[in-house]
Amino acid sequence: MHKANALARALGLKEVYVKDDTVNPTYSFKDRPATVAVSKAVEFGSKAVGCASTGNLAAATAAHAAKAGLPCYIFIPASIELNKIVQATAYGANIIAVKGTYDDANVLAAQAAEIYDWALVNINIRPYYVEGSKTLAFETCEQLDWSPPDHVIVPVASGALLGAIRRGFDEFRKLGLIENSKIRVTGAQPHGCSPVVDAFKSNSDEISPVEQPDTIAKSLAVGNPGDGLYAVRNIRETGGVAESVTNEEIVEAIKLLAKTEGIFTEPAGGVTIAVLKKLVESGVVSTDEKIVCYVTGNGLKSPESILEHVPKPVEIEPSLESLTTLSMLGGV
Ligand SMILES: *Cc1c(COP(=O)(O)O)cnc(C)c1O
Repeated sequence: MHKANALARALGLKEVYVKDDTVNPTYSFKDRPATVAVSKAVEFGSKAVGCASTGNLAAATAAHAAKAGLPCYIFIPASIELNKIVQATAYGANIIAVKGTYDDANVLAAQAAEIYDWALVNINIRPYYVEGSKTLAFETCEQLDWSPPDHVIVPVASGALLGAIRRGFDEFRKLGLIENSKIRVTGAQPHGCSPVVDAFKSNSDEISPVEQPDTIAKSLAVGNPGDGLYAVRNIRETGGVAESVTNEEIVEAIKLLAKTEGIFTEPAGGVTIAVLKKLVESGVVSTDEKIVCYVTGNGLKSPESILEHVPKPVEIEPSLESLTTLSMLGGV
């Protein structure tokens, strides 16, 4: 947890914290659910573990499987770029590329789990997987010295993370570890895949799936979120809001967080910061709220998302003369 004073100042806020999950063992928050799920699989005596995923979950499941000494099977749609699964491959996972959509890969994985006795972390042992993310709420309380935030901003794909964070706070409240105060839980999604935001804003109790997600925030591109309705309810019940941001706003937020706090996030974390900025500007977040932003994955996962939006290096001759003419050095 970082106290983000420079970010707070840039946004005109008093107290902002960044819960930094960019530096977990596999560089995203998915280590939290994956480690609980793989531990459960070991306890159950499962023959292998795996998941259906296109990125962060594949890497986390594969790493924890390697450590547990279990074979790992990962189902992906055949269309995804190989650099998205190179990390999982390095940990020794078996990658099965299904010629079809993500949903086709998911359905086949579920069928395979039954006949081969596999524990697939986000499918047949999902209830355990989800528990792991509660540690994001537990650690937040502990690291804020048991004085919880007023408002937390959470990126939303399937909605499982947001629900787990809310439950984590509720459980600590029931145990008397934190006060009985309200913590607003806000959901952040990218334009181009914002079914939870759309349902929240239209006051609907139904999620309209997004057929073709189109966003640089690939980790959040879940068009038909399994826990989407629960996410909408959790947001409403806690007095939070749901908001979405454009690719341009995401890129600006990635750069803002990097320059103010020295934290380099993938676009999902940019969505969190961009939503905070938007909510401050629209007055939904008041300047004296104590806010925690969940930044859930490392920028090195997808450098291509900002490559075109950062300055190119300046080229010079290998001479002092050439160096000292550079305007960025501001003269000798
Ligand atoms: C998976 C993921 C999320 C969202 O998690 P859900 O539980 O599916 O809502 C957010 N950020 C990153 C980086 C992720 O990989």
